[in-house]
Amino acid sequence: MLIDIHCHANLYLVIDEVINEAKSVGVQKIISVGMSVLSQKRILEISNIYDIIYPALGIHPEEVKMNKDVEGQLDSVVDMIRKNKENICAVGEIGLDHHFVKEKELYPIQKRIFEKMLSLAQELELPVNLHTKGAEKIVFDMLPSYKIPNVNLHWYSGPEKFLNVGIDRGYFFSITPAISYSPAVKNTVLKVDKQHLLLESDGPVKYSGKIGTPAMIRDVLKIVSKYKEISTEELENQIYENTKIIFPKIF
Ligand SMILES: [Zn+2]
Repeated sequence: MLIDIHCHANLYLVIDEVINEAKSVGVQKIISVGMSVLSQKRILEISNIYDIIYPALGIHPEEVKMNKDVEGQLDSVVDMIRKNKENICAVGEIGLDHHFVKEKELYPIQKRIFEKMLSLAQELELPVNLHTKGAEKIVFDMLPSYKIPNVNLHWYSGPEKFLNVGIDRGYFFSITPAISYSPAVKNTVLKVDKQHLLLESDGPVKYSGKIGTPAMIRDVLKIVSKYKEISTEELENQIYENTKIIFPKIF
């Protein structure tokens, strides 16, 4: 059984097709992660409609660019997360982004939102799903101040130094279809031990012009198994066990 632990399932135009295709290659669970303020409600809705979808809620770091009033709406999102704490399996996608968000004046707002999300994860005893692009040092400096059950670094492609810190701290790393072309993602796979690897599509993000879907993690598994020099069967079982440790609520 494969599990896509990071997908923006609410963004697909024809979600039934995406789910059927995923099931046809053995993907049996999909974690749909939060992004915008508006996405939170939609994620809860689709998780009620489709058994395969498990919700995670949180504000994405790029939201500061799209929504000028995100801070004003933060309390309502926090309320929604608290109210749904039994239904959600993680707080995410949260973090900092200093790569796609170039406007430095937005960084303090982004940090305040992230701090709020980390406090919430600590309060609700939920794992976090992190975006760290271009802000790896700050994120890694912040994390030890919070008591969070487990940390998932999504699509890690940052400096080697922090990859090593993450490995030492026992964080989990989720691998995207970018493994087929990205040297940084390949390096993550080679460095992280098999007990800390997970699979994700980050769909509908595009890979080489193709819309990302949960079904693609079947190929991600194949490539990772080649790099780790273990059979796909053994790796599939190992990743299943890893996923149970970090996201127990989806089982
Ligand atoms: Zn994402």
